[in-house]
Amino acid sequence: MKILNEFRCSFPADSANEGLARATLSAFLIPADPTAQELADLRTVISEAVTNAIVHGYRGREGVVSVCLRMLPDRVVYLRVSDKGCGIPDVSKAMEPLYTTAPEEDRAGLGFAIMQTFTDSLQVRSIPDHGTTLTMRRKLRGHDSGNADG
Ligand code: ATP
Ligand code: MG
Repeated sequence: MKILNEFRCSFPADSANEGLARATLSAFLIPADPTAQELADLRTVISEAVTNAIVHGYRGREGVVSVCLRMLPDRVVYLRVSDKGCGIPDVSKAMEPLYTTAPEEDRAGLGFAIMQTFTDSLQVRSIPDHGTTLTMRRKLRGHDSGNADG
């Protein structure tokens, strides 16, 4: 698939950087002219993914979170968030709504459900002790600026 634009960044697994990831995504999406709702949805999606990498992948230990943003043809936004943390032993189980391994931290177990709701596709690849990569796509349908191929 042709990549119309791409932005990659990596940052330390520090919750202070969740806002940076959201801001980076917003800046990347501006030329694609998303609606306020689409922007809000995708900001939530990247937040959930980055938070998971930090709190579950690295569990408070040092590490690096990598983000790749792409604009694909037909206004499809591609997001990839990866960590080299602990990995997920059972991905299907982890993706069940309300499943969390951190109830004592007041986690609701809804991050994956939210990411699935706000994207058209979500793929999770995870290897225990090696890390996790989330790949998501969401087509922008609103505010078509008439530049459908980007
Ligand atoms: P919430 O997102 O509602 O605060 P949560 O983070 O526990 O709660 P999900 O985001 O749905 O819920 O994730 C479910 C579970 O999947 C987590 O509790 C954790 O066990 C596991 N998980 C998710 N992302 C990762 C990751 N990057 N590395 C390791 N484990 C993960
Ligand atoms: Mg979560």
